[in-house]
Amino acid sequence: MSLLNSSIPVTFNQLYLNGGYSAPHSSESFSVLNPKNNTLVADRIPVADDTDVDNAVKFAEAAFAGPWSKFSATERAACFHRLVDLLEERLPHILRLDSLTTGNPVSLIPTRERNYIRNCLLYYAGWTDKQRGDYFPDDDGFIKLVRHEPIGVCVAINPYNSPVASFFIKAAPCLATGNVLIVKPSEKSPLGSLAVAALFEEAGFPRGVVQVLTGDGSTGARLASHMRISFTGSVATGKKIQVAAAQSNLKRVTLELGGKSPAVIFEDADLENAVTWTVNGILARTGQVCVAASRVYVHRSIAPKFIELYCTRMKDAVNDIGDPQELETKFGPLADTAAFENVQSMITRAKKESEQVIGGDRIGEEGCFLEPAVVLNPNPDAEIYKNEVFGPVSVVKTFDTEDEVIALANDTEYGLMAGVFTRDINRAMRVSAKIDSGVVGVNCVSLMNIQAPFGGKKASGIGREFGEYALRAFTEPKTILIK
Ligand code: NAD
Repeated sequence: MSLLNSSIPVTFNQLYLNGGYSAPHSSESFSVLNPKNNTLVADRIPVADDTDVDNAVKFAEAAFAGPWSKFSATERAACFHRLVDLLEERLPHILRLDSLTTGNPVSLIPTRERNYIRNCLLYYAGWTDKQRGDYFPDDDGFIKLVRHEPIGVCVAINPYNSPVASFFIKAAPCLATGNVLIVKPSEKSPLGSLAVAALFEEAGFPRGVVQVLTGDGSTGARLASHMRISFTGSVATGKKIQVAAAQSNLKRVTLELGGKSPAVIFEDADLENAVTWTVNGILARTGQVCVAASRVYVHRSIAPKFIELYCTRMKDAVNDIGDPQELETKFGPLADTAAFENVQSMITRAKKESEQVIGGDRIGEEGCFLEPAVVLNPNPDAEIYKNEVFGPVSVVKTFDTEDEVIALANDTEYGLMAGVFTRDINRAMRVSAKIDSGVVGVNCVSLMNIQAPFGGKKASGIGREFGEYALRAFTEPKTILIK
């Protein structure tokens, strides 16, 4: 199958710099494989080196000071709207490119992916002319004005699991506020990000406003020592980026990191609803989602019924796993052999540290396909209970009291997402206030909404994406005192 579509003039052995694809300075490169059968998808993808990073930053600084700085809010919004129109036709092909290396099913494209990206762009297009700043009267002899100024050159370092959506989640608030952006996609999924880059100029954004540098962690580390960073990825890498920021120019860093998200099912919950949300919450993108509902706590009185239904649904999901490039497939493989081996070895160790493990075997002879797994009542210090798996593996534990389950839900270094399932609104409000996470769903879990802030407490991150809050991450207030 040809990777290229005539409407997308991309080659994958070039970087996207200053409005065009150009050869890298670096001679280092990497390859990407299709996790359904480990065949080669593309090779000679550049690992951008110091010179490539310096060039991108130089072009970005020029773009920030250039025509882009003169764009009115309405002109910026018009670029967003043209981009939405262009994506209407091109996005499916761009997302199919990433499906080839992530294993994300193409069945997600026409509905979930398309709507998510479209809503994100339209939402932030609406914010371009609403950066109103503030005013305080001259009661002390000074009028105080507060301007919300763009930061300048921003960098997005992205994870592999949802590459183009991550690109737009960062690009939209960044550009709406007048910044410029360098994107570093994951080395596991660079193709869609390279392909989407050229659409920005076509939509009217000046050259250099959006650039894409491919590479691995070494390119990410080079960028982390440069400009302002919006990073999404693991806690371990997030810590390194925070160190690089401190050691270079004390730049502001937004970190969207991992999770080990609890779903709490009380005895009065609508059981069918709770099972549906918690199963979907761990199986979407084969569990490779930061907000995956990976810890399920169920009240002892309904545990037998819930666990039976939940495990049946997890087992049945095997029938929905298949070739991610086929439209009828709901769940694909894990993203690569390293991810597969990591998840499988965690399952093997879990067998020694829990009451029972259901599922978790390899599916088929080739590729990175894995049966969903349920780990029942793991030990409190079991690795599978404490650490993010980033695969289709959940733990299920029973509880007796509300206070006990709040303590269990909060006994984690993470704090990204949680779910509370109950018909009692007072309990829902009480428990959601006490759970230590950036987002809590009531009678739902593992979801986000573009209008409301999204991000983590504790080790799950610093700062917020989505909503008005993301605009604050990309602007710096300046106070003007007028005597
Ligand atoms: P990762 O941390 O391995 O890599 C993320 C990015 O960081 C990649 O582009 C990588 O090349 C780059 N990188 C690696 N080392 C670096 C360094 N020293 N300096 C700078 N950049 C470096 O994460 P991943 O495996 O791609 O993604 C999975 C993780 O991302 C999971 O923990 C998941 O929970 C998290 N995630 C979080 C969110 C969120 O919004 N909170 C969303 C998606 C994924």
